[in-house]
Amino acid sequence: MKKLIVGNLKMNTTPSEFKSYAMTIATKAKGTKNSIVICPPYTHLSTAKEIFSGSKVSFGAQNISEEENGSLTGEISARMIKDLGTEYVIIGHSERRQKFKENDKTINKKIKTALANGLKVVLCVGETLQTRANKQACTFVRKQIDDDLKGIYENELESVVIAYEPIWAIGSGKNVTAKDIQKMVEAIRKEVEYLYSPKASKNISVIYGGSVGLSNCKKLLSLEFLNGALVGGASLDVDSFVVIAKENY
Ligand code: PEP
Repeated sequence: MKKLIVGNLKMNTTPSEFKSYAMTIATKAKGTKNSIVICPPYTHLSTAKEIFSGSKVSFGAQNISEEENGSLTGEISARMIKDLGTEYVIIGHSERRQKFKENDKTINKKIKTALANGLKVVLCVGETLQTRANKQACTFVRKQIDDDLKGIYENELESVVIAYEPIWAIGSGKNVTAKDIQKMVEAIRKEVEYLYSPKASKNISVIYGGSVGLSNCKKLLSLEFLNGALVGGASLDVDSFVVIAKENY
């Protein structure tokens, strides 16, 4: 089954380091059936355009402003990144929710801005360890989806991928069981069905993120209920990432 593999470089690599990284991926990704999306820092997007044009690799940004333009020193708009050929944007990553205090209202606005500018959205959702311990994980994530997708039309969901990322599994090496992922993916699809339709629920892509690496990618990506993976730490090592991204599951 064809999978979507998204690499989130976070605030790592310089533009020149990224150039050789991107060239390696573009070369080695040839022939893969999977869809590969690399999300580097904003400063690397023009290099991404230059190197990934005509290759199997797409690229995305890690954030956008919720506003279209204006007096917002230091912010980057959806239109700016779209103009650079960017196809995707990650919205609602837990690091932005926690460290930059983004709430569901802001995230909802960012999704609308992204879609209005023709970008595809990787919407990140996921619970804390405490929420999981309280047996509220599915309820919590369903509420995030409900709030984040408010006012988004069913036909726009074609451009939305939901990334389930349990916060406690990100960068921690902690593994979530396949059973827990399956339960969450079902909960996410139920919420999409409740908000939209059975068709929307069936068609939406749901990927998993949280310490996906060489040791567990095969197991995780062969789960037929998952459409792919969001890879953070392991995407920094180009050789590991190529193995994860190219694997034919
Ligand atoms: C992430 O930050 O989105 C992520 C999945 O990171 P890691 O793979 O390092 O857990």
